[in-house]
Amino acid sequence: MRMSKLFVQTLREFPSDAEVISHKLLVRAGFIRKLTSGVYNYLPLMWRVLKKVETIVREEMDKAGAQELLMPFVQPKELWEESGRWGAYGGELMRLTDRHGREMCLGPTHEEIITSIARDSLKSYKQLPVNLYQIQSKFRDERRPRFGLLRGREFIMKDAYSFATSQEDLDKEYQNMWNAYTKIFKRCGLETKAVQSDSGAIGGSVSHEFMVITDTDAGENDVFYCDSCDYSANSNHAVSKLPAADTVGKWNKAEVIDTPNTHTIEELCEFLNIPSTIILKSLLYIVDKKPVLALIRADKNVEETKLMNAVGGLDIRIATAGEIEEMMTLNGFDAEKGFIGPNGLKEYNGFPVTFVADETVKDLKNFVVGINQKDKHMVGANFGVDIKMPEIVTDIRLVEAGELCPQCGKPLKVTRGIEVGNIFQLGTKYSKPMNAVYTDIDGKTKPYIMGCYGIGISRTAAAAVEAHHDEHGIKWPLAIAPYHAVIIPVSTKDELQMKVAEDIYNTLVKHGVEAVIDDRDERAGVKFKDADLIGFPYRITVGKTINEGLVEFKIRETEEMSNIKPEEAAEIVVTAVHNIK
Ligand code: ATP
Ligand code: MG
Repeated sequence: MRMSKLFVQTLREFPSDAEVISHKLLVRAGFIRKLTSGVYNYLPLMWRVLKKVETIVREEMDKAGAQELLMPFVQPKELWEESGRWGAYGGELMRLTDRHGREMCLGPTHEEIITSIARDSLKSYKQLPVNLYQIQSKFRDERRPRFGLLRGREFIMKDAYSFATSQEDLDKEYQNMWNAYTKIFKRCGLETKAVQSDSGAIGGSVSHEFMVITDTDAGENDVFYCDSCDYSANSNHAVSKLPAADTVGKWNKAEVIDTPNTHTIEELCEFLNIPSTIILKSLLYIVDKKPVLALIRADKNVEETKLMNAVGGLDIRIATAGEIEEMMTLNGFDAEKGFIGPNGLKEYNGFPVTFVADETVKDLKNFVVGINQKDKHMVGANFGVDIKMPEIVTDIRLVEAGELCPQCGKPLKVTRGIEVGNIFQLGTKYSKPMNAVYTDIDGKTKPYIMGCYGIGISRTAAAAVEAHHDEHGIKWPLAIAPYHAVIIPVSTKDELQMKVAEDIYNTLVKHGVEAVIDDRDERAGVKFKDADLIGFPYRITVGKTINEGLVEFKIRETEEMSNIKPEEAAEIVVTAVHNIK
């Protein structure tokens, strides 16, 4: 490819709407252009990267015994009603109606479709196990599309679905996919950590996410891990042991006392001169429009996904101060945020209040609690006497670094991760409601035991930029770089420089290297800047030193430079490209 012909417009500035480096660099280096919120054009350079990621994924999935197919992007409502997700899937599901009034959706994922294919075809245990996958665009009307390709609305995903007759076979396939994923991300130049995770709207029980660890904002997940053992989990699933704490109050009878201006836990602790570990904190959440009051020891925080799962919800947010006041008034109280408590709260938004307590509250005795009266708290309270213990008592606590590993008891650490892929054990979550069954060896019909396995193709490419870049631009890992090498003649007017550059270019191309020759009549500085920005793994510069028979060879990843013979430079690149797999 000749740079003069390459479809690429690099920009001088970063786009103003980009927050994370992969978004900034992919736009500035001419890989992507935004069409509308969360929807991007993949320009030629990007498309080459994406196709390479796809090829790696395809090769490893095929090697692992999965078979590729392609399902439609538009899906009929009826199948989603069978699984129960038409009503359950929230605002992310993009619904549309055709000219005949039939309701459809744009596929955010394909469990329903694949399950319908399986039940039509896989009728006998003899045909199982099977793993089917596709690589395709998905659409999710994400609440907050952001970070460019990391969280788009339209994005490319590899999704695989396995069907088995036993948990044992599912376990085997889960491990098989785990191994394939490890290879895939390694080949893409990414180090990943497999962490335990919540299985969310997709359902099921066991699941792991493959995270690219990063210390930037691009890492939307907090990952808790232990250095002493192999424990690691997404914060939405992490658990910990707590060190011993003072959870018994000094009061020997319950009484309501004045606590003026104690709107925060800190103010209350200071006023009463007690640690926060003997206060019961009440937090109002809105889950699918319904009020949920979470009770937790006041030094700890609520993990929203855990709370949402505890009440079987799909959407959760903390209530606003206005909503809290409105609920108080509705239930006959005159109080505000800071004084809320469980007693006497009955309803809000036309729904009864659901109470959920975290396990930490079980240790509380003679504690302090809000009673929905401004500037007052109850001290010396006890469950079963002054406060009713909620029916739901479970783990809704957000783990914090320094708490103890649930496996080995050593302090947990926290870092951030970009989820590039995940594997789920679905069990019969889809096959049962959709009546997707096979006939077993004993002649009985049984639902398939399923698994599903996703990889964000476009997110993986963006994660590679997050992991490989510097202040000058991208440093593509060789296996997914749009081109392997760029050859830069410093002066296109210099005959010898041009001839050597063309010779190197031809040699590289002949040996299967994807190369670009920068034949533009531009200053060398401009060419170097573009080469760094676009992120070619190798740069061969033909300048004045060619008079001594040398070219400048640069490795983008390490920024190492050396003056070597043209043949040597070509040989290094050819060998590296041949060793990619
Ligand atoms: P997240 O928690 O990041 O929203 P998810 O749990 O919704 O991800 P899945 O539904 O399991 O993800 O999708 C499989 C893979 O698709 C994810 O591991 C991720 O790599 C990718 N993916 C999911 N949502 C997006 C998105 N909005 N933009 C780009 N890639 C995405
Ligand atoms: Mg999601």
